[in-house]
Amino acid sequence: MLLGDLPPAFLLGLAAVLGLLFGSFSNVVIYRLPRGENVAFPASHCTACNQPIAPYDNLPVLSFLLLRGRARCCKAKISWRYPVVELLGCLWALAVMRLLVLELPAEEPLWRAAALFVLYFALGLGLLCAIFIDLDYMILPDPLTLGGAALGLVTASLRGLGFVPALLGAAIGFGVVWLLFVEGYRRLRGYPGMGLGDAKLLLLTGAWFGWQGVLFALLAGSLLGTLLAIVVYVTRGQLPEPQGVIAEREELMAELASLEGPERAELEAELARDPLFAAPQTGLARARLAFGPFLSVATMAYALIGPELVTAYLQLGMS
Ligand SMILES: [Zn+2]
Repeated sequence: MLLGDLPPAFLLGLAAVLGLLFGSFSNVVIYRLPRGENVAFPASHCTACNQPIAPYDNLPVLSFLLLRGRARCCKAKISWRYPVVELLGCLWALAVMRLLVLELPAEEPLWRAAALFVLYFALGLGLLCAIFIDLDYMILPDPLTLGGAALGLVTASLRGLGFVPALLGAAIGFGVVWLLFVEGYRRLRGYPGMGLGDAKLLLLTGAWFGWQGVLFALLAGSLLGTLLAIVVYVTRGQLPEPQGVIAEREELMAELASLEGPERAELEAELARDPLFAAPQTGLARARLAFGPFLSVATMAYALIGPELVTAYLQLGMS
């Protein structure tokens, strides 16, 4: 069977439904992965009162609207982020189908078109989870970054990149960030400019898109992050800290208060070395900003329209 045998409208409809369903699953991953819970079991339950959620109350976007944003069991408010993540999953699936799959020639074998859809769909969902987890906790879980990188490496030939360019891209992605922004920056200024998680994320970008993708993600990600930081700083006066970071600092402060003598001095010295636990900084230059979301968005953009963006940029430079 060939790709051209199926009508595009059917494929787009299928993508929309899959996007909503797996967007809903992404919400589960975003909630459970940083808490160390199993993402597949048990079935969804209310995060406020722990009651199981009936399937008819667990429909993507629709249930949120029908229930007017409140849980049926205990009337607890449901975060607006749930329907937003579901819609983003839907948009991503539609974009992958339209820009990557339906651009393939009609003679493309259906199995390969389907495989490419599944791969890029999974990549975007993984990055979507990484974005929201990093915003909340300033961590990028290894199952998402390293797992995604492994998927990129083993499918490089199928995707037309080639295994060697993928391996090289992964090494460059990790190496550049680690050398310049983690180790180099730390030696220069006493604290790292990016985390090891960011290096692992660019390992993923390199495994999927080679060194060109790494370069693009670093440049576009920095530009995006800087612009957004300036906008937030100008409008609000300071950059907000992630909830998870604030909670963790308070927890450690409580622990510190309960300790005495050499144990206390040891923990104090340890905290002094960790920029995340120093008192909040309000200056823009030292503001802490999760960089993962911007790298992830840039990687997603590169997946959809990377070659076109690079060509347009080069033409801009030559004219
Ligand atoms: Zn409840």
